[in-house]
Amino acid sequence: NRRVVLAERPVGLPNDDTLRIETAAIPTPGPGEMLLRTVYLSLDPYMRGRMSAAKSYAEPVAIGGVMTGQVVAEVVASNCEGFAKGDHVLSGSGWQDYAVSDGKGVMNLGQNPDHPSWALGILGMPGYTAYAGLLKIGEPKPGETVVVAAASGPVGATVGQIAKIKGCRVVGVAGGPEKCAHVVDVLGFDACIDHKADDFAEQLAAACPDGIDVYFENVGGKVLYGVLPLLNPFARMPVCGTASWYNLTGLPDGPDMGPVLMGTILRMKVKVEGFIIFDSFGPEVYKEFAKEMAGWLAEGRVQYTEQVVEGLEAAPAALNDLLIGKNFGKMVVKVG
Ligand code: NDP
Repeated sequence: NRRVVLAERPVGLPNDDTLRIETAAIPTPGPGEMLLRTVYLSLDPYMRGRMSAAKSYAEPVAIGGVMTGQVVAEVVASNCEGFAKGDHVLSGSGWQDYAVSDGKGVMNLGQNPDHPSWALGILGMPGYTAYAGLLKIGEPKPGETVVVAAASGPVGATVGQIAKIKGCRVVGVAGGPEKCAHVVDVLGFDACIDHKADDFAEQLAAACPDGIDVYFENVGGKVLYGVLPLLNPFARMPVCGTASWYNLTGLPDGPDMGPVLMGTILRMKVKVEGFIIFDSFGPEVYKEFAKEMAGWLAEGRVQYTEQVVEGLEAAPAALNDLLIGKNFGKMVVKVG
């Protein structure tokens, strides 16, 4: 049973000393428990936050503890009611080959689910994040302009496609021409701007001739500062993530943008609302998401891209790729 543990807390981007692979005996399930074998491990930007001791919405991973993560696993043996050998489940077992579970918080996906890994992406946490954050906080109306960064990633790609379904003009922001082309050609956004371009702010302004009504905040930094002058009165800003700042070791260089940010919120009467997907919305929103998203996928109205990395040992480097934008689509590790 291999497992990836946190060896030390990183300063800035994680390095070779941050995570360590250990082996341990395969655990034995007791009464009311089941043994799970990981099939797919999800890699997500929040994992960087769990490596730090800083106060957050969740406890950090302990030094020597198994890295947190959602997995799709197969039930190998079960003494747990409602779960049978061969069932696939969605579980928070973390970065390891095997785990024992009492079934609490575990979702049964059945014996032979279509696309089991999608439970980690478009049909799971990132898809739900996009749906709830955009529709319940962003409240897009037909004809409005919606901007979202990390537009080829699982959250941003879904935000933009739902906004198109709702009749909005959608402008994505992504890193590099290849991602931008995918966002327009495959995902159907109206435009996509490369945030690495020197004239990023000018290009964004040109792509948003009627200003911005919803800015779905995924990255912060240069993208946020390009958006601020374009926000319309009563714009909405669901604050989902600030990925460009996750590896900061101190405050960034450059001018203090606080006055511009707060002045814009004030003058433009912008609604800014942060959310954490697992506790900001009630179960009725999840049910609505699961039903609508399954329909959109079946109708081909939402496209989904995955990057599958082979082997648990490849996970640490793959997480770093994700943190610096070297991923393309939803990153999952095929473990077994
Ligand atoms: P992605 O797979 O899209 O990965 C993050 C992306 O951020 C990178 O691929 C990169 O895309 C972009 N990025 C990284 N650094 C920068 C930078 N300096 N400037 C601009 N963009 C950068 O992630 P997800 O779709 O899984 O998540 C998107 C956001 O949503 C994250 O901030 C995440 O933390 C947040 N999130 C929040 C949740 C909540 O409950 N609030 C739940 C789930 C996710 P590119 O190369 O295109 O720039």
